[in-house]
Amino acid sequence: MRFSTKAIHAGQDPDPATGSVTVPVYLTSTYMQLKPGREGKYVYSRTANPTRNALEESLASLEEGKIGLAFSSGLAATTTVLMLLRKGDHVIAGDDIYGGTYRLFDQVLRNYGLQFSFVDPRSPDKVEKAVRKNTRMIWIETPTNPLMRVVDIRAISKVAKKNHALLVVDNTFASPYLQNPLRHGADISVHSTTKYLGGHSDLIGGAAITTDTEVGKRLKFLQNAVGAVPGPLDCWLVLRGIKTLAVRMDRHNSNAKQVSEYLMKQPQVEHVYYPGLPDHPQRDVVKRQMRGYGGMLSFELKGGFRECEKLLTKLRVFTLAESLGGVESLIEHPASMTHASIPRQRRIEQGIKDTLIRMSVGIEDAEDLLEDLQKGFKGL
Ligand SMILES: *Cc1c(COP(=O)(O)O)cnc(C)c1O
Repeated sequence: MRFSTKAIHAGQDPDPATGSVTVPVYLTSTYMQLKPGREGKYVYSRTANPTRNALEESLASLEEGKIGLAFSSGLAATTTVLMLLRKGDHVIAGDDIYGGTYRLFDQVLRNYGLQFSFVDPRSPDKVEKAVRKNTRMIWIETPTNPLMRVVDIRAISKVAKKNHALLVVDNTFASPYLQNPLRHGADISVHSTTKYLGGHSDLIGGAAITTDTEVGKRLKFLQNAVGAVPGPLDCWLVLRGIKTLAVRMDRHNSNAKQVSEYLMKQPQVEHVYYPGLPDHPQRDVVKRQMRGYGGMLSFELKGGFRECEKLLTKLRVFTLAESLGGVESLIEHPASMTHASIPRQRRIEQGIKDTLIRMSVGIEDAEDLLEDLQKGFKGL
């Protein structure tokens, strides 16, 4: 089956008990057993739940993996993946990963004896140089937030394999519709399903998918042992979002492309960051590993904070808000919002200037988005 068909059918056969065409929400914690000590397919909903199972099969299918697991948030998925490691293990992580992931690594997991090095994964050499005897995992994101930097998954997977480390790719920004990290050599693909997979800004969820059955078995054990599982209603909402992922992503792609072209023409705009632009520095990698450019972009405005504030408060179709990946267009100012917790010096070093603005371009009519921007840019 092809992607759009899998999105609607994988894991979602009509309910065997009733014939219900949509997967029912199994709101139950426990299941009747036929005999003591002989477990049926379902025992207790932390371990397995039919609605969650449907979602997990769907996720595995969309990411071309063998085992898919759902979690209560993107960070719950990340935490559980890191539990594959032991005290004293070393992780190499990208130096501009999602702020919450950085905080988890730096302020929580270090306290449990894990070691972290943060390097620029656009250079496989730098990653290779950071490898230690105890390196067990490499963690990257691509495209990155908010500068839309792209990492060559294949090149980093070679470094990982050579050094017997697992490669994990946070694939939240691209979604499985535009990029399948497992196909390019990653061992685990991680998602915040809060974003494009859910797609409607109405839930918090996470996922991890792998092709490696041993890793998958251990992750499934950890999912149950650690317990950061989503409820059946949230699983159902993600499944519902997934059904329209392909059509939504096509519209995100085309709207963001038009917005990026509009921004490129504005004299008040210093620079536009979007994987779809011909001058993107990793254009070759983008073409090799992505099937579209997605709905996320950012740009630098000329001037200072006042100009940013003026633009952001004038817009009516774009909502000033954090998060991303929903049907509605959002706009935000990383320096004072999503990336405010990074010390200014470090933030500037990473290239996130005070005048950077990030957009999650939604699936509204493109004309309305462009008109809204026109009004916003007028008189800047
Ligand atoms: C939002 C996000 C996360 C964290 O996911 P939550 O669902 O908020 O826990 C991780 N990675 C990326 C790239 C994200 O955008």
